[in-house]
Amino acid sequence: MNVALLLARSGKVFAERPAVYLGEELICTYAELAHRAACVGAYLREHVGLQRGDRVAIFMSNIPEYLEVLYGAWFGGLCVVPINAKLHPKEAEYIIRNSGASVIFSSGDLVDGIVPLLTELPNTCVVLTPGTVAFAAIHRHAPLAEVAPAAHDDLAWLFYTSGTTGRPKGVMLTHGNLQAMISCMFTDVDQPSAEDSVVYAAPISHGAGMLNFPHVIVGASHIVPISGGFDPAELMSLSMTRRHLSMFAAPTMVKRLVDYIENSHADPSGFKTILYGGGPMYLEDIRQALRVMGNRFVQIYGQGESPMTITALGRYHFTNVSHANYEQRLASVGVAQNLVEVRVTDNDGMPLTNGMTGEVVVRGPTVMKGYWNNAEATASAIRDGWLYTGDMGSYDADGFLTLKDRSKDMIISGGSNIYPREVEEVLLMHPGVHEVSVVGRKHAEWGEEVIAFVVTRDGLALNAAELDTLCLKNIARFKRPKDYRFVQELPKSNYGKVLKTELRAWLKSELTQSTTHVIETTHQ
Ligand code: AMP
Repeated sequence: MNVALLLARSGKVFAERPAVYLGEELICTYAELAHRAACVGAYLREHVGLQRGDRVAIFMSNIPEYLEVLYGAWFGGLCVVPINAKLHPKEAEYIIRNSGASVIFSSGDLVDGIVPLLTELPNTCVVLTPGTVAFAAIHRHAPLAEVAPAAHDDLAWLFYTSGTTGRPKGVMLTHGNLQAMISCMFTDVDQPSAEDSVVYAAPISHGAGMLNFPHVIVGASHIVPISGGFDPAELMSLSMTRRHLSMFAAPTMVKRLVDYIENSHADPSGFKTILYGGGPMYLEDIRQALRVMGNRFVQIYGQGESPMTITALGRYHFTNVSHANYEQRLASVGVAQNLVEVRVTDNDGMPLTNGMTGEVVVRGPTVMKGYWNNAEATASAIRDGWLYTGDMGSYDADGFLTLKDRSKDMIISGGSNIYPREVEEVLLMHPGVHEVSVVGRKHAEWGEEVIAFVVTRDGLALNAAELDTLCLKNIARFKRPKDYRFVQELPKSNYGKVLKTELRAWLKSELTQSTTHVIETTHQ
C-alpha cells in the first residue's frame, strides 16, 4: 500500500479540518492538502515524466509546503530523498548525486547554494522552489485521479545517515517499513487525535517528519513554526494557543525547552506529548523535565535503519513512580516496540543474558531494505535477518534496555571497558554541570584515558577536584576522568547530537601539537 493513501483518505474524511499552519496562520485544509499533493504527483509523473520508484530530492528548510511535496511524490509512486537543510550545499549535492534524483525541491533560502552545483549532474535535473510562480503553476495541473500504485516493498524514503564517519549512506525505507513504523507509533508511542497539533521544531527530513503520519491519519493539525525550527518562546506561545501540542525533540532540545519553562515560570499545560530520542537522555535531565513539565514525555530509540522503532519508554512507565526500578527505567530506552524483536548479542551474534552488555540487534518489518547501491554495507549491517545497530546495551529482567554507548565510543583503559554514558550520568548529578561529554584519549600506558568536557551551568566556575570527589563517591576509581576540560559549548551535529569524533580529534591534535589550549578553556 502506498503511504499517500493515508492523506488521500484524510483529504476526504477530514476534508474541512485545518491541516497545515505557518505559526498561527492557516495554510490549507486536509482537502486542499490532498488536492495539492495530487497536483504535485501529476506534475512529476505527467509533466516531468518521472516513473514509478524514481527519486525526488527535497532540500528544503521546514516550510509549510514540505508535506505537500512529500505526499506529492508519494501520490506519484515516487521515492523521496529528504535532505537536512543544515547540510552544506556540497553535502546535499553528494546525496542528490548518489540517490540519482533528477527532481529537486529546494526552498528559497537554499536554492542559490545548490543550483550552481547541479550543472554537472549526469541527468538533467529540474529544480522547483515553493513560493515561485513556477511552483504555483503546479497547483493548476490536473490532479492525479488516483494515487499511483506502490508495492509494500517499493522504496518510499531514502534516508541519508548523518555520516559522522565517512560519506552518508542512503537507507532504503519501503512503504511497508513506514507502515510498520506508523503502527508502532500508535501502539508504543502515543494516540494522537484530531484536536492535536504536531509542531515541526526539528528537521522534517529526520525523525520529526516521521511524526506526520499518525497525525495525518487522525486529521490533526501540522504546524511549521515561523522560526522554521526550535525556538522555546515560540513553542511556548504555540502551546498556549493550540493546547494539545506534540513534537519530536532531540534530548538537547528538551533540555533547552525545560530550562526556558523553568526560568520563565511558564505554564507547560499546552503541551501534550514530547517525543524524544535520537541521542542519550540523561537521568538528571529527564528528572528535571518531569519536575518542570509533568508527565508529557515518551522516549523512542531508533535509527534511520529502523526508523523510530527499536524500543520505547511509554507514558505509563513515566507515571509508574512507585516501581522499585523507576529510576533505572527512566535512564533506560524502554522496551522493544511491538512489531520488532530486539536482542543484545555477543561478538558472534549470540544472545546474551540479562545484565550483560553487548551489541543491540533488531529484526522486524521496520528494518530497512538495505543501503542504496551499497551491497557491502548492507551485508555488514544486516546479518541473518538482524540489523546490527552498532549500539551497546543491556537488558534487565523486565525487558528494559539500557544503552551504554556506541561501540566506537567505548573507552578501553588498562584493559577495562568504560562506557562514557555512565560517567556522564554521574557528572550531571552536580548542580553546576550543565552539559558533559566523556571521551577517551590515547595513553601510552593505559591504552586510553578518560577525559570529560564540561559546560558549566550559567558559566559558573567549577573545579575539577569537586567533580573528582563526586565520581569517587559514585563510580569505580578507574572510570574517573583523568582530566577535565571546561568549555563554553559542546560541538553538535545538525540534529543536536554531541560530536564525540570532534572532541577526540581536538584531543588528538593537542597531543600532536603538545598544547593544551586548542579548545577555549573558560574555567579551571
Ligand atoms: P540516526 O540514524 O541519525 O537517527 O541515529 C541513530 C542513533 O542515535 C542510534 O543508533 C543511537 O546511537 C542514537 N539514539 C537514537 N535514539 C536514542 C535514544 N533514545 N537514546 C540514546 N541514543 C539514541
